[in-house]
Amino acid sequence: MINTANGGALMGALTIDVEEHFHVHAFTGTIDRADWSRQESRVEANTDRILQIFSDNNALGTFFTLGCVAEKHPALIRRIVDAGHELASHGSAHYAVFDQDRAAFFDDVRRARLILEQTGGVAVKGYRAPSFSIDERSPWAYEALAEAGYTYSSSSHPINHDNYGNPDAPRHPFREPSANMLEIPITTLLWRGRRIPAGGGGFFRMFPLALTRTNMQRMRREGIPPNFYLHPWEVDPSQPRVKAAPLKSRLRHYIGLSRCESKLRRLAGGAPSGGQWTRMDEAYHGWLDDLSNSRNAGRLSA
Ligand SMILES: [Zn+2]
Repeated sequence: MINTANGGALMGALTIDVEEHFHVHAFTGTIDRADWSRQESRVEANTDRILQIFSDNNALGTFFTLGCVAEKHPALIRRIVDAGHELASHGSAHYAVFDQDRAAFFDDVRRARLILEQTGGVAVKGYRAPSFSIDERSPWAYEALAEAGYTYSSSSHPINHDNYGNPDAPRHPFREPSANMLEIPITTLLWRGRRIPAGGGGFFRMFPLALTRTNMQRMRREGIPPNFYLHPWEVDPSQPRVKAAPLKSRLRHYIGLSRCESKLRRLAGGAPSGGQWTRMDEAYHGWLDDLSNSRNAGRLSA
């Protein structure tokens, strides 16, 4: 089950949710979906900067990409694949899972997988829900994902947060029994019995890099590959400001943008305690192998 880099450290997964700065949940009440096509597209240039950082540091990762981004930027999808990264799905149009019914969700994730596979020319097995939005409001989500052709999900952020998360959900990868899928939660730190979020995103921008590194090392000591996430717009301090958005949303979205790219570069580079990053399907291949063995066993005994 253990996947180690040179030197024996446990390989972690670097994951990027490929979306525009205006797709985020925090701006849904401010920028109408009907106006998305009139916004300045920055996702391709921002993702290219991340691809360069990964390439400079010999790091591989998984790019959970929106179907609507793949449709508009097919050459970017091919660059992601050609560089050796894993192409995975962030759904088609960034609807929260709990805002859809089962049929709409199934349609969204199936369409996204087909677009990504057509564009990238590779199989797409992984899914990440927008805003980690699989929870008790969508008990059918894993079944629908399995039906739509996915093998694993990384949609759980097991923390206490006002917009998402479930502080009682498992912190380690687990097999979701209703669909026999693997769920790989975002890394959290256990500190004095409390879960501290430091697996990426706003927490990565807000707090010193050392906190993320410590968190990743502690996860490694628990025998679990770290799972780090970021968005292309988080390395883009020049993105247009959405002034009409609520103050809290603006603070969360814009804090720490100017330092984020250099922090990501140092995290991807690794030494002494970070580094050793790979694709999610590689970092967790032992768990995925166990899952496919149990699927095959089920098929044989059926
Ligand atoms: Zn997203």
